[in-house]
Amino acid sequence: MAADTDIAIIGGGPVGAALALALQQSALRVTVLEARAEGRAGHRTEHSREARPMALSHGSRLLLERLGVWKSLRAPTAIRDIHVSQRGGFGRVTMSAAELDLAALGYVIDYIDLFEILSNEVRATHNDYREGARVTALTREGDAQRVHFTLQDGTAATLTAQWVIAADGGELDGLTPPTTRDYAQHALTARVSTTLPHNHVAYERFTQDGPLALLPFENDCSLVWMHTPERVAELMQAEDHAFLVALRETFGARLGDFTRVTRRASHPLSLRYTTRDTPGVITIGNAAQTLHPVAGQGFNLGLRDAWELAQILCGIAPQALTNNAALHNYRTRRRTDRVAMIAATHGLVQLFSNDFLPLHAARGIGMTVLGAITPLRNVIARRMIFGAHG
Ligand SMILES: Cc1cc2nc3c(=O)[nH]c(=O)nc-3n(C[C@H](O)[C@H](O)[C@H](O)COP(=O)(O)OP(=O)(O)OC[C@H]3O[C@@H](n4cnc5c(N)ncnc54)[C@H](O)[C@@H]3O)c2cc1C
Repeated sequence: MAADTDIAIIGGGPVGAALALALQQSALRVTVLEARAEGRAGHRTEHSREARPMALSHGSRLLLERLGVWKSLRAPTAIRDIHVSQRGGFGRVTMSAAELDLAALGYVIDYIDLFEILSNEVRATHNDYREGARVTALTREGDAQRVHFTLQDGTAATLTAQWVIAADGGELDGLTPPTTRDYAQHALTARVSTTLPHNHVAYERFTQDGPLALLPFENDCSLVWMHTPERVAELMQAEDHAFLVALRETFGARLGDFTRVTRRASHPLSLRYTTRDTPGVITIGNAAQTLHPVAGQGFNLGLRDAWELAQILCGIAPQALTNNAALHNYRTRRRTDRVAMIAATHGLVQLFSNDFLPLHAARGIGMTVLGAITPLRNVIARRMIFGAHG
């Protein structure tokens, strides 16, 4: 029996949508199933309370340009320098785009804006983009997968696909068994105004309870403040003035005073990654690995997943999908980048969340040394910008 489609992508979030756009050059029939409905208006209503900044690397910018969507982003704000410090300790590291001969190390954008631009593009260019289609289960049917989903009105439907690509952000239960580590931290996101200009510097400040990032965004700063769930709950409830005072106490005076905060949102943080795939199913983006946002690498890594998978799929004919070589090729190509980013972000969280005094001093020394050795710093910056193969 011929399958209804060659590739079914579950999830039209930033990674699934990027994959669908990159597959336009392929000979394959592609169906996208996205749980959210109504596109722009629907998505904004559901999420409009959320300030959700995302730092994109220079490498991600190049990929979004190739997908034709970079020019539509509302206000990508350049990060020219990154300043890393630890609260109550010496040592700091700065990285600079100028040292790498780049105009910017990366850009800060808004998640919702990116989601909307990508989904509008998929809607406009894709003939089989199904919104309001929530996938509930997969069953094997010969060489194909039967995808079970429900429509917005509750109607159940199915389709068969030669390959399923899960880009559901890890929301679809039971697809692949993820390895999980609860960080016992939540991330609070908001937009804040400061009396001093950000000058396109992204600040990352490590504290014993979790890191705090202030990213340049338009004329304000985007805040990602990671702390214990209890403290984040308090900060979510705090009056604006009390919140801004607490922020100043933790961050210090580098940006002057904090004068305004927008609505806040909170996200639980855990590390999840798949160690094996279900036959005929490939996971990409957060469905394959959900990282701590300490280094702002989750989407950058997921976008590289989508891009590399598309490069492989664009080179094969539909009838060759039954051959497992392409699947194997993809997994091999992505292994190093994936393992390196999981280890780097997890290692950073572990290293900086321990306030054992000798370790505190060692971190200071390490940061001072790193700050003094430009080539080493630049190697790290290149890995963050272009991935493990950069
Ligand atoms: C606080 C915070 C800050 C972050 N900062 C950064 C950063 O600075 N830089 C960076 O690179 N990354 C960052 N990240 C990570 C980044 O947000 C994710 O890596 C990225 O959103 C992953 O995209 P995705 O498309 O894989 O998943 P998602 O964004 O989760 O999208 C998944 C999509 O699948 C759909 N879906 C889910 N279940 C189903 C189903 N059953 N059927 C059909 N559709 C379904 C959803 O509706 C959604 O549209 C941050 C994350 C957090 C929490």
